[in-house]
Amino acid sequence: MRAAIYDGPGEISVEDVPRPEIEAPGDAIVRVTHTAVCGSDLWFYRGESDREAGSRVGHEPMGIVEAVGDDVDSVRPGDRVFAPFVVSCGYCEYCRRGLHTSCVNGDSWGGDNGGAQGEYVRSPHADGTLVRVPDRYADDEDVLESVLPLTDVMGTGHHAAVSAGVDAGDTCVVVGDGAVGLCGVLAARRLGASRIVAVGHHPDRLELAAEFGATETVLGGDGTDVVDRVRELTYGGAEHVLECVGAASAMEQAVEVCRPGGTVGYVGVPHGVDDAGVPIFDMFGDNVALRGGVAPVRAYADELLEDVLGGTLDPSPIFTETVSLEEIAAGYRAMDERDAIKVLVEP
Ligand SMILES: [Zn+2]
Ligand SMILES: [Zn+2]
Repeated sequence: MRAAIYDGPGEISVEDVPRPEIEAPGDAIVRVTHTAVCGSDLWFYRGESDREAGSRVGHEPMGIVEAVGDDVDSVRPGDRVFAPFVVSCGYCEYCRRGLHTSCVNGDSWGGDNGGAQGEYVRSPHADGTLVRVPDRYADDEDVLESVLPLTDVMGTGHHAAVSAGVDAGDTCVVVGDGAVGLCGVLAARRLGASRIVAVGHHPDRLELAAEFGATETVLGGDGTDVVDRVRELTYGGAEHVLECVGAASAMEQAVEVCRPGGTVGYVGVPHGVDDAGVPIFDMFGDNVALRGGVAPVRAYADELLEDVLGGTLDPSPIFTETVSLEEIAAGYRAMDERDAIKVLVEP
């Protein structure tokens, strides 16, 4: 089969690799029809995080079940499924608590499982991991494009909103206008926030944030004091802040626009935060709580899928470019150069 391979910073190739096979009775093989390039893929693409050259990449698979092991009950060959960015068993202590990212039987999509940016992927613990799309929507391209973000960014944006404690009538700030931040806006609106201030660096993305439900947008850069502006808009900060970037500067900004006694929900993969530190003294002084972490997307998949299928949630506008698997290197480039918000890949 064909699969994307990371060859080193800035280099993604597509090569022939062995097709994964059923190895355990709980496995399923999925023929990948839709997948995506992730903002988090850019860290290794830019050489800013370590990844072994020659490794398979991709973690946002959707496709058709090709084969299942003897123990698999929840899906059958021919079913349309998608899966969150990590494998989870569904029955361990943490899966039962909705913390699937800490699953004791967890696994990733890379390595022998094939990588999700490829033609086929093996899902260990298929019953716990795969989410079935009802047959009546299984071949509806528009619906599938709206479902695909549930593999990662929509669930992650939702986790930011939940972690920040967003509830009906609340005022919140979303820091970051990437795919996760935009999904954070959708999630905050879905949870009933009445004011959503979106903070970002790209006018076109903030425009999309406004379409997604942001009531105000604040464009950073060029001397704009974002923190002052947001504090002014929120009369001293918002009680609920979604940090959707992961960079130390974004974390700092999130804490600074958080109202005393408020909560920052953070979901961006921390980057540079080790060196710079979280602004613990600001947090201490204002009793700002920090909640969140890697999003247990599987825990939210069913409720978010219901809304997507019901037509009340549509994150698909984040896909501003579609490429074939053979063209995936161009997809990485487009995201790296910020020409695309998120790239959909069709193997
Ligand atoms: Zn991702
Ligand atoms: Zn588990």
